[in-house]
Amino acid sequence: MHTETRFLADAMLGRLARWLRALGFDTTYDPAVHDPELVALAAAEGRVLLTRDRHLVDHLRPERAVLVTDDDPLVQLRQVVAACALRPPARLFSRCLVCNSQLRDATPDEAATLVPEASRGLPGPVRRCPGCGRVYWHGSHARRMRETLADALPGWI
Ligand SMILES: [Zn+2]
Repeated sequence: MHTETRFLADAMLGRLARWLRALGFDTTYDPAVHDPELVALAAAEGRVLLTRDRHLVDHLRPERAVLVTDDDPLVQLRQVVAACALRPPARLFSRCLVCNSQLRDATPDEAATLVPEASRGLPGPVRRCPGCGRVYWHGSHARRMRETLADALPGWI
């Protein structure tokens, strides 16, 4: 059985974590967690540790880690995709960008009351995060993110 690769991003990689979540990859990120805890947490949860910290990799020797080498989050994303041989997701935006929870479809009532009036009636589903309550719809922000991902990962989107 193919298990989806899951990630734990270090404090330097918040923007990379958001891009991975946009692609649907389960990516935890908590900038308050310190290095030894990060390594233990990644091992306990079976996550690949994503880090900018060479010292951490050399000294704490995480089981599975990618030492991210670029400052640009989209270059970082390409590095992780290559290093972990990731495959394109079935769909984008299935996960909350902020808290990593799996989104669910909003009820018609939620869609009617929680989406700003100017964005109501746009094509595409309205989704809600069961973790933090955020509402996602297919507006200009999602469109720009999709275009950015299509440029960063040719053939994926
Ligand atoms: Zn959320």
